[in-house]
Amino acid sequence: MHGQPDRSSCRFPARRSCVYLVGAGPGDPGLLTVKALCLINRADVVVYDRLVSDDVMRMVPAGVSRIFAGKETGNHPVPQHEINDTLVRLARAGRKVVRLKGGDPFVFGRGAEEALYLAERGIDFEIVPGITSATACTSYAGIPLTHRDYAQSVIFITGHGRKGKLLEKEIARQYGGNRNATLVVFMGVGRLRQIMAALIEGGMSRDTPVALIERGTTADQRRVLTAVGRASIDAVEAELAAPALIVIGKVVELAGRLDWFVPAPRYDEECAQSGS
Ligand code: SAH
Repeated sequence: MHGQPDRSSCRFPARRSCVYLVGAGPGDPGLLTVKALCLINRADVVVYDRLVSDDVMRMVPAGVSRIFAGKETGNHPVPQHEINDTLVRLARAGRKVVRLKGGDPFVFGRGAEEALYLAERGIDFEIVPGITSATACTSYAGIPLTHRDYAQSVIFITGHGRKGKLLEKEIARQYGGNRNATLVVFMGVGRLRQIMAALIEGGMSRDTPVALIERGTTADQRRVLTAVGRASIDAVEAELAAPALIVIGKVVELAGRLDWFVPAPRYDEECAQSGS
């Protein structure tokens, strides 16, 4: 038969001595890009973050080395300079390195810092964008970031700045200038009360809808639909924990009508059921 694609062929062969900064998406392995998967299959080593889901890590072939760059035992984060040095050392040893990062490598999460470090040392690198949690988790929670009648712009903002600087005032300031925007706050659940208070102080109605999305796109996804005036109480009640996104704006009203996501059985549950 002619015309059948060769499924084993890959249009993105990994180069030696190169670091690929690859977006792993928010959790569902189905959201990996074709390019990400090709590179993972051909890597010598995958250096991965805490945010990369177990289901995505199951896509890494058995023969590929793995280095965890999230939390060490004792819960201390691996210092960024150690991660940077590891990437340089592996590339200089001639390895094909996949640096796998949650979501998109250039949306928060320090991908830019790693790329700059490599560039300054003359290490070859490539960026493979991933699907950011901001778009994926909202879609899976039934929330369109924009809709002509609800929101004309979207703001991605972090709840935590450099050296733990707190950014709730900045979040409120952004809202002040963009009253019809959807606000997506990363790394903000630990400061939810302060963020909501700053928004109310900045003139936002306490009834403005809010969605809190925990472990979005995974089998454990939870969404809490609430409002600015009671989000922090509802989050405590739901025992909401990181990683979670805070989505604020009128578009959240659509979540009730667009609730489509049915988590697939977990990979291991499925295997257990089929006996494999
Ligand atoms: N580069 C990543 C963001 C890194 S910052 C991206 O593009 O998505 C880490 C923050 O991202 C978390 O604190 C959380 O706010 C958010 N996040 C990442 N994955 C998530 C997920 N599956 N569910 C909910 N929030 C997530």
